[in-house]
Amino acid sequence: MSKPTTSLKSILAEFLNLNRTLVSDDMNKTLSIIGSYLPDSADYTVENFAPLTDAWTWKIPERYEVHEAYLETEDGQRIVDFRDSPLHIISYSLPVDCLLTWDELAPHLRFSEKRPAAIPWEFKYYERDWGFCLTKNTFDSLLPRDKKYHAVIRSSFITDPARGLRVGVGVIHPEGGANPEAGEIIVQAHTCHPAQANDDGSGVVSAIDLARRLAENPLPAGSMSVRFWFGPETIGMVAYLSRHEDWIPCLRGGIFLDSTGNQNSLALQRTRQDTHLLDRVARSVMKKRFGEFREGEFAQVAPNDERIINGPGVNVPAISITRFPYPEYHTSDDNLDVVHDDLMVEAAEVAEEIILIYASNYLPKRTFRGPLFLSGHGLWVDWRENWALNRAIEKIMMRLEGEHSVFDIAEQVGLDYWVTREYLGKLQAKGFVRVLPFPSETSAD
Ligand SMILES: [Zn+2]
Repeated sequence: MSKPTTSLKSILAEFLNLNRTLVSDDMNKTLSIIGSYLPDSADYTVENFAPLTDAWTWKIPERYEVHEAYLETEDGQRIVDFRDSPLHIISYSLPVDCLLTWDELAPHLRFSEKRPAAIPWEFKYYERDWGFCLTKNTFDSLLPRDKKYHAVIRSSFITDPARGLRVGVGVIHPEGGANPEAGEIIVQAHTCHPAQANDDGSGVVSAIDLARRLAENPLPAGSMSVRFWFGPETIGMVAYLSRHEDWIPCLRGGIFLDSTGNQNSLALQRTRQDTHLLDRVARSVMKKRFGEFREGEFAQVAPNDERIINGPGVNVPAISITRFPYPEYHTSDDNLDVVHDDLMVEAAEVAEEIILIYASNYLPKRTFRGPLFLSGHGLWVDWRENWALNRAIEKIMMRLEGEHSVFDIAEQVGLDYWVTREYLGKLQAKGFVRVLPFPSETSAD
């Protein structure tokens, strides 16, 4: 049984401070915490990808373990200790145990000029090195610089195939179960930022909230299924897609959620296609809810995993919903004070509204010839009851050639999407309209 509803912030707190770097034991823990809050119907599973195996042009990294790490002066005065924060070492630092002069040590120290009291989050996953991260204030206090320093990082890189990179996946189906013809939309949030609340914990809990909403209030029968995906940024999605190439043609769109909790307006980052149906649906939802809203081109607001889904050789349209930028980004100041429950919930609500329309939309194709005998089939709408629909019926009938989606028709005739869909549902029930699904979106060439 999935755990009962609780505040999104308290779910985030459960995994926030874990050292959930790319491939790690704490990543496993994070993925299992996420699974415990997803609805049971999502049938959440965690998949393993063996270290050092190929994933398209990438290689899956080893599992990273840190047993102990600290920096101290030669006389034993501790400067930083990994036990206090996983941010104190550069993620994927090589093991080291040596005595260094200041000049030897300095190139291995990282701090934030902009936020002198914060520890920056740094990583070096592939071109490996080692290093410590500390506050600028601590760095400045290391005077005089004529001492020797003892740098200790006891880390190991595990290549056991069974202890590889993990991603967690759950799928929420529409009313009545999956409709393979309609395909799927994917909702993604990455999980690999240790001790970072807004980037990336907030996106994770907004996605959990969204999954719970879609389980409680399922999409109409025949809609797309919604796949929820959690794992490390970039390499996680590259690994997943490279091992599930057969599934890619099922994918009709993507929504990436990240930095949904900070005090900033919600922004829409458009797809690489830029004017795709998904962009138009998302813009209409944002406009209806906020009036004026922030938006930007593909990968220009906050580049994330949509670069994989919507990238070369996949190219499935993917948008992002985010409140990025914010000043605490990638530092120890990105903590629970930065994120707000109502804002993380609002992002989930916006994503839900976009999915409700995009995943239930279809291409209606007429089966009748000549003007439809409306009153003879109980399809006439009394103008006294619904003036706008009565006026629009003639225009709707001229758009049932299988080229215009329900969403397009609603926009063109000036009706609400759900009013239009409901009316077309009546035509469908009488056998006057067939449902054409959207073709596959991917382009592998
Ligand atoms: Zn980030």
